[in-house]
Amino acid sequence: MSDYDFDVIVIGAGPGGYVAAIRAAQLGLKTACVESRATLGGTCLNVGCIPSKAMLHASELYDEAASGKLAKLGIKAQVELDLDTMHGQRRDAVKGLTGGIEFLFKKNKVEWLKGHAAFIGKDTIDVAGKSYRARNIVVATGSNVTPLPGVEIDEKVVVSSTGALELAKVPGHLVVIGGGVIGLELGSVWKRLGAKVTVVEFLDQLLPGMDGEVRKEAAKIFKKQGIELKLSTKVTGVTVKGDKASVTVEPAAGGAAETLEADAVLVSIGRRPNTDGLALERAGLTVNKRGQIEVDHDLATAVPGIWAIGDVVPGPMLAHKAEDEGIAVAENIAGLTGIVNHDVIPGVVYTMPEIAGVGLTEEEAKERGEVKVGKFPMLANSRAKTNHEPDGFVKVIADAKTDRVLGVHIIASVAGTMIAQAAQAMEFGATSEDIAYTCHAHPTHSEAIKEAAMAVTGKPIHI
Ligand code: FAD
Ligand code: NAD
Repeated sequence: MSDYDFDVIVIGAGPGGYVAAIRAAQLGLKTACVESRATLGGTCLNVGCIPSKAMLHASELYDEAASGKLAKLGIKAQVELDLDTMHGQRRDAVKGLTGGIEFLFKKNKVEWLKGHAAFIGKDTIDVAGKSYRARNIVVATGSNVTPLPGVEIDEKVVVSSTGALELAKVPGHLVVIGGGVIGLELGSVWKRLGAKVTVVEFLDQLLPGMDGEVRKEAAKIFKKQGIELKLSTKVTGVTVKGDKASVTVEPAAGGAAETLEADAVLVSIGRRPNTDGLALERAGLTVNKRGQIEVDHDLATAVPGIWAIGDVVPGPMLAHKAEDEGIAVAENIAGLTGIVNHDVIPGVVYTMPEIAGVGLTEEEAKERGEVKVGKFPMLANSRAKTNHEPDGFVKVIADAKTDRVLGVHIIASVAGTMIAQAAQAMEFGATSEDIAYTCHAHPTHSEAIKEAAMAVTGKPIHI
């Protein structure tokens, strides 16, 4: 009889870990998943993707009604914000989905080991004072908030994304430190609900890593929406007095300091891998300079039998990237061939309009060789125009010689949904001509992708 307790133990039940555990069990492996949180689903379901989208959706509807956008469509309503109910539907969404993962664990016979896991040796971990031995251990411990030195997060006045999801009242002035994805999504929520929002960003543009033209256009759109942007600006200190904060900022290149008075301050300057308390050294594992566990193409670490996936390994910190790695790692453990194409991972910012991209930015593509670029404005897309959603564009970047699509970038109300076809086309090695000659339903926002692909060879119809 085997002296192993499990074929696979997964540490962490976020989108990486819970998906890995379910797939491993589906493949016939005896599987356990360790989670220290009271509910399954990790950052994404508990305090990330899901609650933020619940607040983004509700605040968007409120804004449409309160700002008179609905009145322009002939819908007149007396609007009142009931923030408690809005938070209630957010909590309901989280409860439903985290409970759903518990159901899936039972259905697939994945055992949930409740508690914090720490390595005892390379094939053994401790959970709540009990040791468990497994042939394979998958580290899927995710990430947490990067602190800003000298700024204490109290989750009341100075909040991380977790506190910013739960503010009990709309702040008069919200100062957001960091103009990345979290800052813009949660900044948008509170702006729509009535707060004055100021985003302080160290770099000269928002959304680092995204296509340059997209970043510039996004800044224009957020400014038009009334979000104040302080680019190339650094925060030098935050002091809290009672329920107010003073944020001192100065130009990144040096210059006169300025103080912003705030009712809430959101610290959203990135996230860092979670490895504290795991005792990786007892398993012979180390982390790189960024605190991540390095893995090879198969998601195997340097120690045989130990694998790692999701936010704790290099790559974009995205739930769908973690999920795909979860499936791949389970398949590799089971002796199949699990593959994740890290060149084709879409990213979406769920503001209004949404901002989405997949593949290379124009800047990256040009560094590698000659490219052709096709663009189409949403203003000329019949559905976007009819829906009064004129902002944004689609940009298709193709290799100048082979016409193979290298990247697609979209700003549009439903960019997050539109980007899926671009990712699939790229996964199939499509050319811009393949997209241009694919019949797209009319009237849809997605026709803008077809037209941008037609524009690669200079032949869009509607501009
Ligand atoms: P996590 O989801 O972080 O899960 C790791 C789990 O491991 C946690 O539950 C933790 O409690 C547990 N754990 C850690 N250490 C131990 C231990 N030693 N023992 C036991 N358990 C342990 N991504 C998107 O793709 N789309 C979005 O819209 C999106 N929105 C976001 C919004 C916010 C506000 C935030 C903060 C993040 C968002 N993300 C989004 C990012 C996304 O949440 C992460 O990329 C994703 O959750 C990573 O999954 P993971 O499985 O690697 O780790
Ligand atoms: P981020 O890396 O997206 O943005 C952080 C921003 O803060 C950057 O623009 C950076 O230049 C800036 N910054 C860093 N230090 C600063 C300082 N001292 N002063 C001012 N600005 C500073 O990080 P985030 O927004 O915290 O999000 C963390 C992670 O969560 C991201 O990797 C993202 O992928 C993930 N996430 C994804 C989604 C989504 O997919 N829709 C939503 C939320 C979060």
